[in-house]
Amino acid sequence: MAKIPMKTPLAELDGDEMTRVLWAKIKTELLEPYVELKTEYYDLGLVNRDATDDAVTEQAAEAVRRLGVGVKCATITPNAERQKEYNLKKLYPSPNATLRAMLDGTVFRAPITTNALRSSVSCWEKPIVIGRHAYGDVYKAAEMRVPAGAKVELCCTLPDGSENRIPVVTLRDEGIIQAMHNLDESIRNFARSCFRYALAQKLPVRFAAKDTISKIYDGRFRELFAEIYETEFKEACNKAEITYSYSLIDDAVAQAITGKGGFLWACKNYDGDVLSDMIAAASGSLAMMTSVLVSPDGVFEFEAAHGTVQRHYYRHLRGEACSTNPTALIFAWTGALAKRAGLDGIPELAAFAASLEQAVLGVIELGIMTADLRRAAALPVRQILDSDAFIAKIKARL
Ligand code: NAP
Ligand code: MG
Repeated sequence: MAKIPMKTPLAELDGDEMTRVLWAKIKTELLEPYVELKTEYYDLGLVNRDATDDAVTEQAAEAVRRLGVGVKCATITPNAERQKEYNLKKLYPSPNATLRAMLDGTVFRAPITTNALRSSVSCWEKPIVIGRHAYGDVYKAAEMRVPAGAKVELCCTLPDGSENRIPVVTLRDEGIIQAMHNLDESIRNFARSCFRYALAQKLPVRFAAKDTISKIYDGRFRELFAEIYETEFKEACNKAEITYSYSLIDDAVAQAITGKGGFLWACKNYDGDVLSDMIAAASGSLAMMTSVLVSPDGVFEFEAAHGTVQRHYYRHLRGEACSTNPTALIFAWTGALAKRAGLDGIPELAAFAASLEQAVLGVIELGIMTADLRRAAALPVRQILDSDAFIAKIKARL
C-alpha cells in the first residue's frame, strides 16, 4: 500500500525505560510502514532533560500548544534514588505537571474496553471516563492542629484592606482545622476542557458535587459549570446530541455503579483522585488505560496512564524478554493520529487509527495477550506473549 500522508506534524514526546523501548518498536513496526509519519520530536528522556536543564520539557509544551496535538511516552519523575541513578544535576519536576501547568489542562483517564476482558462491575458496557479538576481544594489547603477552647474564624483581607470575617467554631476539645480555596477561572477552564473532550469523544457529561451541604463552595462549582455549558457549549452539544447533567456526588456514585457506563464524569479534585483509581482497578489493567490532557482551548495531548514500567525495564536490560503490554501506548498514538486526521481532514488516517485499534483488540479477543491481562481475561487464554511477539501478532492482523 502507499503510505498514508499527514499534513500537520504531531508533537512527539519520547520518554524513559520500558515505555521508551516500546515507543520505538511501535513506531517502526506499526506506524512507519503505513503512515508518512510527521512529528516534531522532543526527547523527554531523563538523560536529555538533565542535559538541557529541563528546557526540553518547556519546548515540548510549546510545541504541543502550537501544533494542537501531542503524543507522549511515560517519563520518570525523579526522586532522590533516581537522582543518584542518573547522576542528575537536580530534582526536576514531573514533566506531566509542567505540561499540565503550561497548557492549563485537565487530564481525562479512559479505559480501553473489550469483551475479552472482564470489568469487576458486570453491568458496565462502555467505559466511564474520569475528568479530574487538578487545581486547589484540599491539595492546596492550609491546616493546623488546635487546642481545646480555640476560637476559629475564617478571615479574608480584601484588596482595600478591609476584613471579611465569619465564625467557624469554638472547639470544646483539641482538634484540627483546614481552609481551602479554588478559582473561578480554573473551574471555568475545567468545564471548558470537559466539554471539549466530550464533544471530541461524543460522550454525555455528568458533573457532580455536594452543593446541598457546601452551598457556596460546591454551589459555585455547579453554577460555573452550568454557565460555561449555557454560554459556550450548549449549541454544539445539542448539535452533537450530547447531554449535560448535574447531580449530587452520592447520587452520581450510585448511578455509576449500577449503570452501563459510557459517560464523562467531571470530578472535583479529590473525587477525581479517588474515583479514577477505582475505575482503573475495576476496568482490569493499568496497561488498558489511556490518559489525555486537554486544554480549555482544545489542545489534546495523548499518553498511556501507566508509568515507565521500571521493573520490566531492568529485566529487559538483563536480556530477558518482557511481557509488557503496549496497548495503552498504541492507543495514545491512535488517539493522536485520529485527532490530527479530524483536524486536517484526512479520512484515510482516521481509518488507519481505527484499524490499528481493532487489530490490537482483535488479537486480545483471540485469547492472545500479555501477561498482565491473564487476570482480567473473560475468555480462555490461548497464548501469553512477550511484547515483541504480541506486537508482531498485531502487525499481522493489521
Ligand atoms: P508503572 O510504570 O505504572 O508500573 C507499575 C507496575 O504496574 C509495573 O511494575 C507492572 O507490574 C504494572 N504495569 C504498568 N504498566 C504495565 C504495562 N504496560 N504492561 C504490563 N504491566 C504494567 O509505575 P511505577 O513503577 O510506580 O513507576 C515507574 C516510573 O514511571 C516512575 O519513575 C514514575 O515516576 C513514572 N511514572 C510516569 C508516569 C507518566 O509519565 N505519565 C505515570 C506514572 C509513573 P508488574 O511489575 O507486577 O508486572
Ligand atoms: Mg489517586
